[in-house]
Amino acid sequence: MTAMVKAEGVHKSFGAAHILKGIDLEVAPREVFCLIGPSGSGKSTFLRCINHLEQLSAGRLYVDGELVGYRQKGDKLYELKDSEVALKRRDIGMVFQRFNLFPHMTAIENVMEAPVQVKHESKAVARARAEKLLDRVGLGDKAKNYPSQLSGGQQQRVAIARALAMEPKLMLFDEPTSALDPELVGDVLDVMRGLAEDGMTMIVVTHEMGFAREVGDALVFMDDGVVVESGHPRDVLTNPQHDRTKSFLSKVL
Ligand code: ADP
Ligand code: MG
Repeated sequence: MTAMVKAEGVHKSFGAAHILKGIDLEVAPREVFCLIGPSGSGKSTFLRCINHLEQLSAGRLYVDGELVGYRQKGDKLYELKDSEVALKRRDIGMVFQRFNLFPHMTAIENVMEAPVQVKHESKAVARARAEKLLDRVGLGDKAKNYPSQLSGGQQQRVAIARALAMEPKLMLFDEPTSALDPELVGDVLDVMRGLAEDGMTMIVVTHEMGFAREVGDALVFMDDGVVVESGHPRDVLTNPQHDRTKSFLSKVL
């Protein structure tokens, strides 16, 4: 079975700052893969590499068996053109800490935007799907609300629906609940749990250890640009092997 994501010796530097120092990991299809670690350890940078937002300094990254950033011909690699990168990025949904909805568009317009603009879908088709997606995230009755008329948790659920509208094969979540008031976190996690149950492949950067334990299939603890420890969430969270993992967990659990 082809891994949905495979990282082989991934390095990333910004100038002299060496941020990712050789990441190796594999995410299987339909897996919920949780990524935890202290601030500054390189989690967002790693997600950005998967999503073609950063170029690797060394190593290889594959999404669904295809090399990120390059086309392989024989034993030669050619850098992808912007238009080719754009095509690949369609298959990956990303949800950030900040919801980044278009403020001048209603919830349903936000969800319809990419399919219409990027995939040139008809508005009728895009609208029908957007209605279903808003229902799925529990916001069927908020379709005509503008972002400013929604709570942070509702905006984040619209952002998830917007990402799903492109029918991605992989969803990346970068601390999707970190900016939310505590009472709004549960609804967003419930939507993510539903997605997991439907078989979506997800990489989730999170400090929500309850979610990681209950929903996660795999968990990686990253620190200072390396994978320190990985395994089943229950094992890593209840029986961490490394001092750095123990110290981190003692602060967040
Ligand atoms: P995390 O998501 O684990 O908190 P990040 O991946 O955001 O960590 O950042 C890891 C390190 O990389 C930080 O020290 C950050 O300042 C640095 N960094 C991230 N992006 C850039 C950039 N574009 N230019 C320079 N440094 C960056
Ligand atoms: Mg981050």
